[in-house]
Amino acid sequence: MARRPDLDEFAIIARLFAPLAAKEPGALGLTDDAALLDVDPGHDLVITTDCMVEGVHFLPKALPEEVASKLLRVNLSDLAAMGATARAYTLAAAFAKDIALPWIEGFAAALQRDQETFGVTLIGGDTTATPGPMAFTVTAFGTVPKGRALRRAGARVGDLVYVSGTVGDGALGLLALRQDIPGLAPRHAQALAERYHRPTPRLGLGVRLVGLAYAAIDVSDGLVADLGHIAATSRVDAEIEWAKVPLSVAAQAAIGTDPTLRTRVLSGGDDYELLFTADPASAADVARLAAELHLPLTAIGRIAPITGATSEVRVLDPEARVIMLETTGYRHF
Ligand code: ADP
Ligand code: MG
Repeated sequence: MARRPDLDEFAIIARLFAPLAAKEPGALGLTDDAALLDVDPGHDLVITTDCMVEGVHFLPKALPEEVASKLLRVNLSDLAAMGATARAYTLAAAFAKDIALPWIEGFAAALQRDQETFGVTLIGGDTTATPGPMAFTVTAFGTVPKGRALRRAGARVGDLVYVSGTVGDGALGLLALRQDIPGLAPRHAQALAERYHRPTPRLGLGVRLVGLAYAAIDVSDGLVADLGHIAATSRVDAEIEWAKVPLSVAAQAAIGTDPTLRTRVLSGGDDYELLFTADPASAADVARLAAELHLPLTAIGRIAPITGATSEVRVLDPEARVIMLETTGYRHF
């Protein structure tokens, strides 16, 4: 980084990031060239990476706590979707070259809090300064018993499709932050915005779905788009009953002010709930798991035989008519 006495690269690493690495001996206090990670035999190492770019994934005025929390949480959500136990992560950070120290302190403090919540430790990274938009990349590491990771490709015809928690809050939260839901009570707008900024990776659920779910994915692009990924890799079709899609009180209120927002619930992203399929014969096991985790697990549809050349996701209204959507999910290109 640039030579600034208050903001020397090595001082930042030693003072702000090394404390986050204290719990993992293999991090070597962030004083060596790389970290060491020992993995139990009998386990696969699960690796995922996600990048957040200023102006693309977060606004220039976003708080450092929001950026850091979301960055770590979306990575942990990918581990959850594979059924992994989260263990460690690296951070590659390109801070603005004129950044103020408190911004980096806020960033590190949010990581520290989330590390404790989710049981992971920083083990390495890279720190640079950029004249352009800031960019942050986390690579997260987890473990899963060998060969048992949850995959997108395992859905079978006749499976029930389940989703955890509630759907649509992330996308509606982004709209609420942009003041695009006029008439929505402030407390609902706030609840939705919180879900957008600080999604909850469903790590406890993912681990328990190993051996119970046939296919799983986390909802990042949108409910329909992500179910489409399961359908495509599994070579099946899928159907969702709109009336069964679980909505939070705040999302219901938003749709109450504008019924067209239901499209956002189906095609908007950023929920980071787990979407999975399971044998209908396992319904009682899924219900028991939901009760144990205090987390709703709602059957919203089923897996059907493929009808066309490519897989299809159909959203059905209460009369079993197909609801048309203009877009199915967010795409960068
Ligand atoms: P090198 O030049 O050999 O790549 P660096 O000076 O970039 O080494 O990094 C020194 C140590 O600090 C390494 O262990 C690296 O993993 C760690 N590190 C650098 N930046 C970060 C960061 N943002 N978060 C965590 N660890 C970091
Ligand atoms: Mg380096």
